[in-house]
Amino acid sequence: MENDCSLPAGSAPCIDERQFSIMTTGKNKSRIHCADDSLAGAVSQRACVYSGARVVLNPVTDAVHLVHGPIGCASYTWDIRGSLSSDSEMFRQSFSTDLKERDVVFGGEPKLAACIDEIVEKYHPPAIFVYSTCVVGMIGDDIIAVCKEASHRHGIEVIPVESSGFISGNKIVGYRAAGDALLKLIRPKEGETVEKTRKLNYLGEYNLGGEKWLVESYLREMGIEINVAFTGDSTVADLKKAPGACLNLVQCTGSMHWVAMSLDQEYGIPYIDVNFFGAENTAESLRKIASFYGDDEIMRRTEALIEREMKKVRPVIDRYREKLTGKRAAIYVGGAFKALAIIRQLKELGMEVMFTGTQTGKQEDYEQISSIVSEGTVVIDDANPAEIEKFLLEKDVDMMAGGVKERFLAHKLGIGFVDHNHDRKDGLAGFEGAIRFAREVYATTCSPVWERVKKNPFEEVQD
Ligand code: SF4
Repeated sequence: MENDCSLPAGSAPCIDERQFSIMTTGKNKSRIHCADDSLAGAVSQRACVYSGARVVLNPVTDAVHLVHGPIGCASYTWDIRGSLSSDSEMFRQSFSTDLKERDVVFGGEPKLAACIDEIVEKYHPPAIFVYSTCVVGMIGDDIIAVCKEASHRHGIEVIPVESSGFISGNKIVGYRAAGDALLKLIRPKEGETVEKTRKLNYLGEYNLGGEKWLVESYLREMGIEINVAFTGDSTVADLKKAPGACLNLVQCTGSMHWVAMSLDQEYGIPYIDVNFFGAENTAESLRKIASFYGDDEIMRRTEALIEREMKKVRPVIDRYREKLTGKRAAIYVGGAFKALAIIRQLKELGMEVMFTGTQTGKQEDYEQISSIVSEGTVVIDDANPAEIEKFLLEKDVDMMAGGVKERFLAHKLGIGFVDHNHDRKDGLAGFEGAIRFAREVYATTCSPVWERVKKNPFEEVQD
């Protein structure tokens, strides 16, 4: 198979079949292949269906998250994302049915039912999410029926999350499974009503490093209350109040656009997209929210807040821009909303984005990304480590922003790295987050350690 002409000469993808999932901006106008199943053998950076669902639901703090599958799947736990809680820490516990060969042969349903009974007896949670994994999809356990019976038996919500990897190889399916589970959880029972309020729901915010709290403090200053976040620092009782909101904010569009559309259809709650990564994005999002309320006092408070915070952010960004101008960056993250925000922030810092990609971007997301990067930037959907390594070297990148799986790749190549996803402990959202991000980008890009790594200090030892 011939290589796509959208790639620079001598820059073929590592696997021929991937050629239409990689493009160079300005080279051609063809559409990038995206939202496909991962290519077998490519060992893509994208996580599985189950982990997509887990990312979305795990921040529900007082629920039990029970993984129905072999113990290996349960290694995906709270620690992998580290969203914070203001109260219950139940979500930090790991529960698994630990399926073994015997269960694979004879079925895992009795074990699942027994696990649920034990959890209810020991922990009394208000809800249990039961995640289906690859093995469960393969052996055909009916987790819907087991959850329904358990729900009747114990009088609590036992919600199946249909995230078997073998249904599809795409993490986006996991987002959808999690969205389905959330919609089931919040749907009022027959005869129940949820009171309408002037509060808003904040969708696609997972409270990593306390980011939900930070945005909440801005909104409070403006005179607006959050009803519930989906799902950062949420509880089962909070989530059940979701239909009472007057507006939905959507931050992580990949995981929550579909939920927002469903909430609009079912409960008549409109939604707007927001992005709190980067000072400019934060200011723009706060203005959008204020104008939805159409209240003069809210508008006045919003402008005062933005003016005050921008006065703090601008000099810091200017200072780091002096050091970072002309440095070359790469971005590989889960969703497009984050990629777009990081591109803007790095450009504000004077850096050039040499390549960028996402795990779950859609056609329109890539069109937006292509419109804000320079000509010649490589754009990749669902990259694998070999491709990331290749373009990091080819594009002579100084700093990469990504998640835990990209960190070691960058470090081993002697390239600075900013974790914008899994392992970070500090919030990068809002005005404070923009300052922290600039500081982190500077510290890693300009660290003298990379000179030592590139010089190969082992040679000195051998001498
Ligand atoms: S669900 Fe499948 S792909 Fe995901 S962790 Fe478990 S075995 Fe691996």
